[in-house]
Amino acid sequence: MNTKRIAELVDDKKQLFEQVGDAIWDASEVRFNLKKSADTLCDALKNEGFTIERGVADMDDAFIATYGEGKPIIGLLGEYDALEGLSQKCDMNVNEPRVEGAPGHGCGHNLLGSATLAGAVAIKDYMKETGLKGTVRYYGCPAEEGGSGKAFMARAGIYKDVDAFVAYHPADTTKAAAISTLAVYQVAFKFKGKPAHAAAAPEMGRSALDAVELMNVGVNYLREHVIQEARMHYAYLNAGGKAPNVVQADAEVLYYIRAPKLPQVASIFERVIDIAKGAALMTGTEMELRWDSICADIIPNDTMGRLADKYLRELGPVELDEDEKAYARKLQESIGEAEMKRLYAQLLAQFGQDNAAEVDEMIKKPVITDIIPYSFSDAAMPGSSDVGDASWFAPTVMFNTACFAAGTVGHSWQYVSAGKSSMAHKGMIYGGKVMAAIAVELMENAELLSKAQEEYKKRMGNNVYVSPIPKEIKPR
Ligand SMILES: [Zn+2]
Repeated sequence: MNTKRIAELVDDKKQLFEQVGDAIWDASEVRFNLKKSADTLCDALKNEGFTIERGVADMDDAFIATYGEGKPIIGLLGEYDALEGLSQKCDMNVNEPRVEGAPGHGCGHNLLGSATLAGAVAIKDYMKETGLKGTVRYYGCPAEEGGSGKAFMARAGIYKDVDAFVAYHPADTTKAAAISTLAVYQVAFKFKGKPAHAAAAPEMGRSALDAVELMNVGVNYLREHVIQEARMHYAYLNAGGKAPNVVQADAEVLYYIRAPKLPQVASIFERVIDIAKGAALMTGTEMELRWDSICADIIPNDTMGRLADKYLRELGPVELDEDEKAYARKLQESIGEAEMKRLYAQLLAQFGQDNAAEVDEMIKKPVITDIIPYSFSDAAMPGSSDVGDASWFAPTVMFNTACFAAGTVGHSWQYVSAGKSSMAHKGMIYGGKVMAAIAVELMENAELLSKAQEEYKKRMGNNVYVSPIPKEIKPR
């Protein structure tokens, strides 16, 4: 494969990819309502000769953009949703919302969406130039940040014929890592009771708040009897109101139940339902489930991970000019000591104690463009992503490029502030090149693709993806 040519193909249309990333930042839409962002991406893909299928898997702003035909089929996973409440003006080193209370791109999904576009377009251009056969699909996946669009896509069966998935995420460091994540069910339990005067006629009331409290007590006892790695956390969505002298007739609690493997979550969830039913029985209330979202655990793939690492090294690292370094330094003024210490500890763990002197130098840089050593682990890291739901269908890889100042953490206003900067653009373009190189290699090298698929089959064992989302539940 001509890696240099792939890089050129991305660079040739750099302006388009940057514009699209900026337009998604400007739109800052959340969850499943991503009309402008999806329009921007679909228009660009259509102009580039892709066939667009909009509104897939029951989601208006989900899409599949396809180029080419036949096997192999390579799926690129694009996201473009923002986060609630993270509105922030551009290029500032203080927290100042653009629109008070509005959403903002605090996870850099504007760059994720545009890097994936860059990858898809470069693959197409390379196929055109070389006559390479196969299919590239851009999966436009809504609601990664709560809602799990990919879990709905998985339920709809649109991942079934894919041979490999390539996923990318902007970050403050550059690395390929094949690491599993925790599977999660996010489900709300709604209780309905009967209001009454809490002093004059308490015997007439049935308290939904009591039910939530008893449910939580029950789950807190359950903790003793589940696997070590399981995590259960809850938040009151509705505590029944502000008046203690009224028996609370409505209450709702949202649960996140996590474990390393999807079937483990499923079995813990059954027990949590029993506890909720018990709480309803004890209090004479009625219980109703409301699905928020689910994510499967990521099935890591070492073959794919090593491939991403190879192309990160061949195509990078990114070089920043003095202005961009100064820009990052300015932003870093808002980053606390604790964040820097955390990053230092991470880098030391990743590069190893033997390279402590190198890490000491690295941490002084405004943006860490060095490529972190590749790592593999099938033990789950304590987080979840709906990339997991795709990874149950085909070998999947995920990698990061540095788009942000060192120490910047995800889901922060600093991510939003720098989301349209030339520093972020450079990282995004680099991400697009690596995505394209991975995909082209998989299309050209049948042996490597089948090695990745053999590994995937081995890790899956007898497991098959059964969507845990009940049929009647619609994405919303
Ligand atoms: Zn994200």
